[in-house]
Amino acid sequence: MPGRIRDADVADVRERARIDEVVGQYVALRRAGGGSLKGLCPFHDERTPSFQVTPARGLFYCFGCGKGGDVIAFLQEIEGLSFVDAIERLAARTNTTLQYETANGAGAGPRRAPVGQRQRILAANAAAQHYFAEQLGAAPEAATARTFLAQRGFDAAAAVRFGVGYAPRNASAVLDVLRAAGHDGDLLVTAGLAASGERGLYCRFRGRLLWPIRELSGDVVGFGARRIHDDDRIEAKYLNTPETPVYKKSQLLYGADLARREIGLRSQAVVVEGYTDVMAAHLAGVPTAVATCGTAFGEEHAAVLRRLLMDDDRMRGEVVFTFDGDAAGRKAAERAFHSTDERFTGQTYVAVEPGGRDPCELRLAAGDAAVRELVARRVPLYRFVLAATVADYDLDRADGRVDAVRAGGAYLGSVRDRSKRDGYLRELAQLTGTDPEEVRRILTDRGSTSDRRREPDRRFEPERRPESDRRLESQSATDPERPMLRLPPEPRTPRQRVEAELAQYAVQAPRLLPAEFDTLDTQSWSDPAFAAVAGLVAGVGGVTAAPDGADGGSGPTATGAGRAWVQTLRTAATEPGLDAVVTALAVTALVPDVRRSDGLTARLAGIAVGSRVAVVKSQLQRMRPDTEPRYNKLFAELIGLEAQRRALRERGLDAQ
Ligand SMILES: [Zn+2]
Repeated sequence: MPGRIRDADVADVRERARIDEVVGQYVALRRAGGGSLKGLCPFHDERTPSFQVTPARGLFYCFGCGKGGDVIAFLQEIEGLSFVDAIERLAARTNTTLQYETANGAGAGPRRAPVGQRQRILAANAAAQHYFAEQLGAAPEAATARTFLAQRGFDAAAAVRFGVGYAPRNASAVLDVLRAAGHDGDLLVTAGLAASGERGLYCRFRGRLLWPIRELSGDVVGFGARRIHDDDRIEAKYLNTPETPVYKKSQLLYGADLARREIGLRSQAVVVEGYTDVMAAHLAGVPTAVATCGTAFGEEHAAVLRRLLMDDDRMRGEVVFTFDGDAAGRKAAERAFHSTDERFTGQTYVAVEPGGRDPCELRLAAGDAAVRELVARRVPLYRFVLAATVADYDLDRADGRVDAVRAGGAYLGSVRDRSKRDGYLRELAQLTGTDPEEVRRILTDRGSTSDRRREPDRRFEPERRPESDRRLESQSATDPERPMLRLPPEPRTPRQRVEAELAQYAVQAPRLLPAEFDTLDTQSWSDPAFAAVAGLVAGVGGVTAAPDGADGGSGPTATGAGRAWVQTLRTAATEPGLDAVVTALAVTALVPDVRRSDGLTARLAGIAVGSRVAVVKSQLQRMRPDTEPRYNKLFAELIGLEAQRRALRERGLDAQ
């Protein structure tokens, strides 16, 4: 049994793996001020970015769903890895050597990393890909495969660039090579490379041309295999890796590893239909092309693209689907129109090649520029669907126009955004040569010929108030036995704002706070989350115990000390939700300023003094000055408190 990884090595990995780079492989990030980065959360569905990364502290936090942590936690969460697997992956990435300790703590020493299943599958896939690529380049029997590529305009360099390979017809050839290299048979089955038959294991892809399918990190997670031999006993034109622990076809986009950066830079993703189309598009100068792998484009694919496209609070990116101009292409477009969510639909475009050629054929027939031109001539998806629908009717006849309007209206009915629907409605009017008011009337009054319920369709009535279907993201934390601590979503009262910022200083720049901070008692805090943070800080010795340099500055010592402090706090945070609160405070932008931190402390201290003043005053009012002995003592206290409050108020002016 391998032991645990030394803490020092874990810390080393955490230090070396840059969280912005690791997260950036899954989510497009943009600068959000204060050294933080923002993006669309990969852990919940959102349209405006509430997912924040702070490289200086090595942390991420989502203000929408509350997920947060360090680079290790991110990788665990997004890839479904164990802690050890995540460390090992980051160690490999950062060239960090890991040492393992035995369970009893004795005999610590360097050891070969125990490799998790995921890593073993990826290693087997990588070895297989290497072998297949070699076969394509050199094996005599791969001539058919090479010809296939050449006929589609792909030379040897293109094959190498995309890692294309060939699986020999000998069903055990690749398996023998992989087993000799130490990959065991069971693993090859789990990886989807081998299947088990009457005569033992055989290569699932034998005799086929192969495209390695990589995830965003570039790791090969599976293969797409095309039939090229006429005597291939499997009729299917394409075979793909089945679902495995690392291959999830509902999320995979072929070419996304190559296109990722360009998609972010250009705010555009082009979805084509096949592996050769991705190759053709990239070679033709459309480096944002991706394709689904043996499945229709669905919600999860859309979510992947959305995250890669995010470049603004309002998503500006566009997704262009290339479809054949034929009926199948139209069906695909209609399916896309209905299957992806509305916001996505609004920025979805269709590029249709009138001749019905796919990008690969188009590049062969008309060259690289024609492929770029195809993408440039995109039209909004809704317009394409509307035009295709309307084209089925005889618009020269009045009843044909009415039917066309109704058919188009059926599509528009699914559009929830009222402002968009009005625009679409005008286009429908134009397409059918009907007056917009007439279109509205037809659509509102559809009961006359429809055999559905005879209620008028109110969706097209003009003066209806906008639906409030935009719900606030619910606070999803289900209440367990103990209430989860949560940051107040938006500090409202002045006091809450003071507490929020002060707590931020305590987490990010404790050395900027006056020692007086440690003397504030927990009663001074009104919000349970901030009170818990103050308690946590007190528990580790107060802000005066924070390391030198933990002052929120951006110098290397400052960031190192800052990280160490946040780590200390997070380690000590045991109350449910407190770790997330600390993480959230750590990633929220803060411009450190010593006068402000002092002023904030003074304001909160002043608030505490103020409450005491109120208590004392009310006691005094209920006393009779001449008979109660405590009166004078309380009165003296009140004078003292008021003086103290004035002084604090003055100091607090710096933090208004
Ligand atoms: Zn989230």
